[in-house]
Amino acid sequence: MKFDFPADLRPSSVEEREEFYRKSFPREFIEDKLDRWDRFVPVVDVGSDSTRYRPRFKQYKGKLVRINEFEDLDDLKSKIVDYAPEDLYYATTIEKEDRIETNPEKELVFDLDPENVECKNCERKKKYLEGTAEEYVFCDECFGEVAEETRQLFSFLKNHFSDLQLVYSGRGFHIHVEDMEAFRMDREDRRELAGKVAKEFPIDPAITAGEKDLMRLPGSLHGLVSKIVTPMEPSELSDPERILEVVGQPEFRQVE
Ligand SMILES: [Zn+2]
Repeated sequence: MKFDFPADLRPSSVEEREEFYRKSFPREFIEDKLDRWDRFVPVVDVGSDSTRYRPRFKQYKGKLVRINEFEDLDDLKSKIVDYAPEDLYYATTIEKEDRIETNPEKELVFDLDPENVECKNCERKKKYLEGTAEEYVFCDECFGEVAEETRQLFSFLKNHFSDLQLVYSGRGFHIHVEDMEAFRMDREDRRELAGKVAKEFPIDPAITAGEKDLMRLPGSLHGLVSKIVTPMEPSELSDPERILEVVGQPEFRQVE
């Protein structure tokens, strides 16, 4: 089965991923988190979805590998270059293990993807259930719908929080809430908010509820579609075609 994406998006090769992290390791994004948070735990997927990975990492296929220890950013960079991961995430729980009790401080995030909207054009869900399409295919129509839903969710959240960051994830969008009060929300409040928002918007409620605590690292490469995870302005959401064509385009995919 082949991955069917709009705008000629395609999975990256392991060599492209290695080269990307050698040249464009997202140092500033990591430094920012290290400055503000107690802990920063990078997590890699060596290539579960594209099934492209170095043979020696075969045992990690279908798993997520936490990089719990690294000496400094150069050491972390060499580890990431070595994994040449398909996906690079971080744990959203921001406190050190020994301080994690019942309600650890956690980043509040909203994750919107094409698989959460019904699409008559690519019939993604139907084909996936029939076994005739890969799980993560999407088309420009469902992407456009997700962009519009994200625009509306962003304005809704603006009424409740002041420090929001919008990120293009490669296939959809993330909204990160950086207000301190959001980090301190307890489990019940998170669950309630996730349930409420999921009724109206195509989010993954488990991520907002904090049941899944992984988020794609801004500045990393989404190896299934060969796009850089890129912060953007909400006004850019009105032109989804442009996002697919030009936003987060890595050097190796730029037309010569
Ligand atoms: Zn579609």
